[in-house]
Amino acid sequence: MIHIENLTFGYGAGGFRLNIPAFTLAQSERLAVVGPSGSGKTTLLNLIAGILTPDSGQITVADTQVSNLGETDRRKFRASQIGFVFQDFALLDYLNARQNILYPYRITSALKLDEAARDRAQSLAQACGIGDKLDRHPTALSQGEQQRVAICRALVTQPKLILSDEATGNLDPDSKARILDLLFEQAAAAGAPVLAVTHDHELLPRFERVLDFAQFREGGQP
Ligand code: ADP
Ligand code: MG
Repeated sequence: MIHIENLTFGYGAGGFRLNIPAFTLAQSERLAVVGPSGSGKTTLLNLIAGILTPDSGQITVADTQVSNLGETDRRKFRASQIGFVFQDFALLDYLNARQNILYPYRITSALKLDEAARDRAQSLAQACGIGDKLDRHPTALSQGEQQRVAICRALVTQPKLILSDEATGNLDPDSKARILDLLFEQAAAAGAPVLAVTHDHELLPRFERVLDFAQFREGGQP
């Protein structure tokens, strides 16, 4: 599903560098990524989603060579194929929760905002416990509620791949477990793999594979 070969990326001269000789994520696989803060986990997710472009190497996601797409195609690809829960949520303050959840439908005409999409937004929100807060703007929501809006936005499009960047970080233990249930349930329904960066070590047994990210630092052992 995801295939990476000889990937290098750096934030400008002297900046942080990432070097991933090879990485594969299988269809329907549930992979947890752990590693110290600053080891490049978010950078990798941004490269896979086509938000950043590699300096060299290939990234293939579901038969699309992301690293070769132009800016517009990358945005379309991301909005229609990838559910991305951002570490900082990336909600838009001028939109209410419902509009934030349905935001991918504004980005690309590849997605059609129909009744079914609106129903999915409502039932995902219900499942996350924010069903009664959809008219509120992010500034009137707690951190945990904002995080759930971000999770609903990532799932509403029934993505082919789910990328999650510490999606359960601001939640209590019960909510963490429930949100992970929801992520896995949606992923299973769509046959989508899940790549989840997490610091919640108690959640790791629920994943099929755990990858320690420290090894990918430039100069580290492949
Ligand atoms: P993690 O998610 O594992 O905590 P990140 O991928 O966010 O790590 O960051 C990896 C490294 O890259 C850090 O040292 C961080 O300071 C640096 N970095 C992140 N974003 C940028 C950026 N936009 N410009 C320059 N350096 C960055
Ligand atoms: Mg990060």
